[in-house]
Amino acid sequence: MPQQTLCTLAALCLAAGTLAAQTTPPCPQHSRTCPLPPIVRVGPPDKVAAPAPSDATVLFDGVDLAQWRKSDGSPAKWKLGKGYFEVDKGEGSIRTAQAFGDVQLHVEWASPESAKGLDQDRGNSGVFLMGMYEVQVLDSYGNDTYPDGQAGAIYGQYPPLVNASRPPGQWQSYDIVFHRPRFGSDGSVQRPARMTVFHNGVLVQDDVTLTGPTAHQSRPSYSVHPDKLPLSLQDHEHPVRYRNVWVRELER
Ligand code: MG
Repeated sequence: MPQQTLCTLAALCLAAGTLAAQTTPPCPQHSRTCPLPPIVRVGPPDKVAAPAPSDATVLFDGVDLAQWRKSDGSPAKWKLGKGYFEVDKGEGSIRTAQAFGDVQLHVEWASPESAKGLDQDRGNSGVFLMGMYEVQVLDSYGNDTYPDGQAGAIYGQYPPLVNASRPPGQWQSYDIVFHRPRFGSDGSVQRPARMTVFHNGVLVQDDVTLTGPTAHQSRPSYSVHPDKLPLSLQDHEHPVRYRNVWVRELER
């Protein structure tokens, strides 16, 4: 099957020939001549979100945003629906009340069913580890953009290994393993941040080494920050939905 693999929900699918961990981004930032990741088709999502593991911190239980804050620390006010919450355009990005370092993070999201806009202007949001290292959320189903800005990209650094997007309106999952950067007492970077990401059960980032915080039209270098910081979700002015958000702390 040329550049397409049908994956079942039961299996975690790996793209052949792309298994080496990357330590430097493969293309100049936002390059549109960077090869588009091959498309991998996945089955439909589960109708009901699977329960979180018993040792996870549940960040959204389907009912309220008690675990979330606005950037000023006041209660988060994104829209609540039946079992999900949705970006409320103009309310601003939201962050967790609790701070985290190394984590396993599970997030489910859905871009608007009635897809509007093109390129970056279509179902755009983002999952920010420590509030500064973004896994891009975008409707990348039949919607091309620069590869380091599509769904599953480490924004502005690493395109996903493959495009495992489901159609707009369907629930999609990210399973992220994040190791924060380690800084020396002199402020030097002793170990950069690293990330592994599964998109709908398909490996899209294989232990990549981040160049620093993610940004648009720049790749800033690291600057010293605390060992734990809140996770955040981006208000990019598109009504992207989230459900079943949980995290397992890996530093205990
Ligand atoms: Mg984004």
